[in-house]
Amino acid sequence: MSGTRLITVTGGKVQLQTCGLYAGHRVPILNAHHICPESWWLAAGKPVATPFKSLCPNCHESVHTAIDGILDGWDVTSLPPRCVVLARQAFTIAADFGLTPAPTL
Ligand SMILES: [Zn+2]
Ligand SMILES: [Zn+2]
Repeated sequence: MSGTRLITVTGGKVQLQTCGLYAGHRVPILNAHHICPESWWLAAGKPVATPFKSLCPNCHESVHTAIDGILDGWDVTSLPPRCVVLARQAFTIAADFGLTPAPTL
C-alpha cells in the first residue's frame, strides 16, 4: 500500500486537511491513494492510469482492508460505507483495464 503523504504548512503553521471521503475527518497528513492499486498495474506490465483520492490515514487503511476483504469474500459491512464504495471502484477499473486484483496489504 504505497501512497504519498501530503502535509500543508502555511506561514509556518501546520494546517489540518479534510479527508476526501468524510468532511468531519480533519487531519495533519493526508495519503494520496491510488483508487485502483498501483501494484495491479505493475503486475500487468501496464502504465499506472488510475485516478487518486486524498484520504485520512484511517480511511486509507479501511479502503485497503475493504479491497482485500472483497477479494477474499469477507463481510466488510463493519467498515465505513464510503471506504467500501471506493474499494469497489478499484475492481471496476481493474475489470475495464484487464488487471488482476491481488491483496494490497
Ligand atoms: Zn492506497
Ligand atoms: Zn477519513
